[in-house]
Amino acid sequence: MNSTDFEKLQQLLQHPKKIVVVPHKNPDGDALGASLALYLFLKTDGHEVSVVSPNDYPDFLKWMPGEKEVVKFDQEKKRGEELVKGAELIFTLDFNHLSRIGELEKYLEAATADFVMIDHHQQPGDYADFIESDVEMSSTAQMIYHFIERMDRLEDLTPKIATCLYTGIMTDTGSFRFASTTSKTHRVIADLMDHGAKNAAIHQQVYDTNSLDKLHLLGRALQNLKVEKEFNTAYISLSQDELDAHNFKKGDTEGFVNYALSLKGTVFAAIFIENKQEKIIKISLRSKGNFDVNEFARTHFNGGGHKNAAGGKSEKNLEETVKNFIAILPRYKTELT
Ligand code: 5GP
Ligand code: MN
Repeated sequence: MNSTDFEKLQQLLQHPKKIVVVPHKNPDGDALGASLALYLFLKTDGHEVSVVSPNDYPDFLKWMPGEKEVVKFDQEKKRGEELVKGAELIFTLDFNHLSRIGELEKYLEAATADFVMIDHHQQPGDYADFIESDVEMSSTAQMIYHFIERMDRLEDLTPKIATCLYTGIMTDTGSFRFASTTSKTHRVIADLMDHGAKNAAIHQQVYDTNSLDKLHLLGRALQNLKVEKEFNTAYISLSQDELDAHNFKKGDTEGFVNYALSLKGTVFAAIFIENKQEKIIKISLRSKGNFDVNEFARTHFNGGGHKNAAGGKSEKNLEETVKNFIAILPRYKTELT
């Protein structure tokens, strides 16, 4: 965001406003952490703020400060609709195309509010009046930290806000191990700890609350792991029946794809998860080094994301989707080997 826009936005925030904060559909720790942090921050300034999430999110995020006040659009349509309609300012966080919010898209398109996009994904759209887009950033949560920093308001970080931002950065960086983690990220994290974020407790809340069903499902997923050695590619598939057999709940497959990527010599990993209700196969893609899964997801699976982590979907059945995936690999032989 250039300084003219930033000044303008600051002007807008000088007086109490009706504000809605929107994370992407199926919000992850970063989308929700960034949204809740911004929500808590703006609320202390006297704004009337709500977080409207397109839908529900996993239980391992349901301890976060402010989480109980989130309006889940798929469960509270009327309320969400009214909030969006009445908003003067709408922040969209951790996505950059309105197609990433499902059914909420048409309500945002009809909204009269000014839009602010804060996001770190590739190829941003142009729906927002104020755009802060930086693909180099570890997470949207880190961008919210820098936004507050730019407003010269870091002294107003509360332990709750610090906790939400820490969670967002931790989850999007694979606990600070991905290449997107910079020395600056670590400095931000250090400051968040100084403002009251409890690192060990946060990590436990997110990662040490697995159900037995989830761990058994992981066992199934690992049994299903297959390798295309010629292309240094590994992939996992999970059918709806397999999910049902393990009482699948939202978020249970989070991180599974990383096991495929952890296989020695693998540079490209995928997981295919059947969703009979939505009649799609949800796909998560991960890579190491230069192989660009954002491009792969965009070109072949109607998706997008980052260079090393992206997602998409397929309307073919599970078997056909996997077959199709394998058939595409030879086109990328040079990049993959
Ligand atoms: P995940 O595989 O963890 O769901 O997502 C990895 C990254 O890709 C995230 O940054 C996520 O926002 C993005 N992503 C996942 N699915 C889609 C999709 O269907 N479309 C787009 N544009 N991005 C996606
Ligand atoms: Mn993110």
